[in-house]
Amino acid sequence: METGIRLGRIAGIRIDANWSVLVVFWLISWALATVTLPDRSPDEATAVYWLGGIVGALIFFASLLMHELAHALVARSRGVAVEGITLWLFGGVSKLGDEPDSAGDELRIAVAGPATSLGSAGLFYLLAWGLSAAGAPDVAVETLGWLGLVNLLLGLFNLLPGAPLDGGRVLRALVWRRTGDRLEGTRAAARMGRGLAYGLIGLGLVGVAMGGLVTGLWFIFLGWFLLSAARGEESSSLLRAALADVRVRDVMTPDPTVAPADASVDEVIESYVMRYRFSGFPLVGPDGEIRGLVSLAQLKRVPHEARHTTPVVGVATSLDDVPKARPEEGLYDLIVRLSQAESLRALVFEDGRMVGIVTATDVTRAIDIANLVAS
Ligand SMILES: [Zn+2]
Repeated sequence: METGIRLGRIAGIRIDANWSVLVVFWLISWALATVTLPDRSPDEATAVYWLGGIVGALIFFASLLMHELAHALVARSRGVAVEGITLWLFGGVSKLGDEPDSAGDELRIAVAGPATSLGSAGLFYLLAWGLSAAGAPDVAVETLGWLGLVNLLLGLFNLLPGAPLDGGRVLRALVWRRTGDRLEGTRAAARMGRGLAYGLIGLGLVGVAMGGLVTGLWFIFLGWFLLSAARGEESSSLLRAALADVRVRDVMTPDPTVAPADASVDEVIESYVMRYRFSGFPLVGPDGEIRGLVSLAQLKRVPHEARHTTPVVGVATSLDDVPKARPEEGLYDLIVRLSQAESLRALVFEDGRMVGIVTATDVTRAIDIANLVAS
């Protein structure tokens, strides 16, 4: 999901596309040009079908983007940070920086996308009808009709009431509003999402059994995707709630033991690793500034015979690459950053001074305690 094609910005919102979009673009153009359009409007030149197919696929992606932009713009107008939009295999994802503060905002953001798709569907149908009445070429009319249909399906599918679909967010917002409990809404949407996913997989299996291999597999694939997305969303939501009141300060090891940055690997092993129980040591230069962080795993990678001559900074993670945190920051935000950086440790700084270290063990322990108290 991370690597992709940068498409630019619309209204200040960053738009990316995953490479899978190229495959889907090709598939849609191909299906339109060789199956759908020749079927509905026979006896045209091949080039005309391909023109319709490619233009149709382009407008299709533009309408996916409109759907996501609608979510993103409403989110921004409700004060929710928007990190960007990514188009990929199953459509689009709007990445929001945080969760809406109220059930009403959640509802508005969720509804904006499907409403846009359904609106576009109406517009495309209207255009198709107008062009047809004006005697425009059949292929143009049929392409517009197809765009109307896919936008209609896109809007309706996304309104299915289960996470991670928009309808799941609508459900979550409604339960949240009724019970006053956001978590209750998350659970309901996740439950329905799982139900929907199993339903799709079941339909897919029936389809395969009845000979519709491609459609059946597609349903199974879609169901499987929804299942894992619903699960991920539920657990991150539950984790966020469990850690709501936990600050970095609460879990960090304050004033960790530091090792000199100009020491050799051998010296660090002898004077620090053998003496203290820690699995990572911040490295401090002669000027008192932190230079980086070295872990047992990094030290271990240096062959025995080279440990005497290898400077420890040569194998350590440089300060620029070490995830950093503030003491008053929420632990959940740090966990998200650690998982993105694929790092097991973060250094905590306050007013430019290192005041603590947070390790994977600290994080696991905090999660265990939070779960203990919650259950
Ligand atoms: Zn949506």
